[in-house]
Amino acid sequence: MKKSNIIIGAIVAIAVVTAFITGNKSSWSDTERALITNCNDSIMHLWTIDNASDSLFLRNVCAPLTLRDIQDGLYEHLKAGMLATVTDPRNEGVGIAAPQVGIGRRLIAVQRYDKAGEPFEFYVNPRLIYLSDTTQTGTEGCLSIPDMHGEVARSTSIIVEYNDETTFLPRRDTVSGFTAVIFQHEIDHLEGILYIDRAIYVINEAN
Ligand SMILES: [Zn+2]
Repeated sequence: MKKSNIIIGAIVAIAVVTAFITGNKSSWSDTERALITNCNDSIMHLWTIDNASDSLFLRNVCAPLTLRDIQDGLYEHLKAGMLATVTDPRNEGVGIAAPQVGIGRRLIAVQRYDKAGEPFEFYVNPRLIYLSDTTQTGTEGCLSIPDMHGEVARSTSIIVEYNDETTFLPRRDTVSGFTAVIFQHEIDHLEGILYIDRAIYVINEAN
């Protein structure tokens, strides 16, 4: 065997090992890991449009979560932090998206007003695969846009597809009414879209 072949063989072996290791690792960045760990499952800092750099961050398109990401213990801590933040009695919401707490990932929590007990539920990599042509205009606010509300026309019925937390297989849910509005608002956040972009008009409560 020639020396060059041994070197090529070694390079290929390293590449295969690297691919194997990478494929089994979660993709949480050190910054994300620190943000999630530091919140200790309690209220997280909210990114708002009042801050210039936060505002730019909220305009980013978020990255998908992998199966490895949600199998990493960090995922449960992120959910706990997001839930604590959206249910903060001093600043309650009906939904929250990960970028609102500085995590640029495709994860949302939606309060299911259409279910008994109105629980908050999390959705991994949610996407809208159907939006009804019929729309209804309603009032919206956002935890990232303090002291404002606006009127937005949203589809009255949607089908959302997302990845199951355990199997990662795609699952679908048909939703209508106010809960469908929450899904549309939160999934917009994952694309860097805010309700004020879609609003017929916005009212600044501070004025
Ligand atoms: Zn929002």
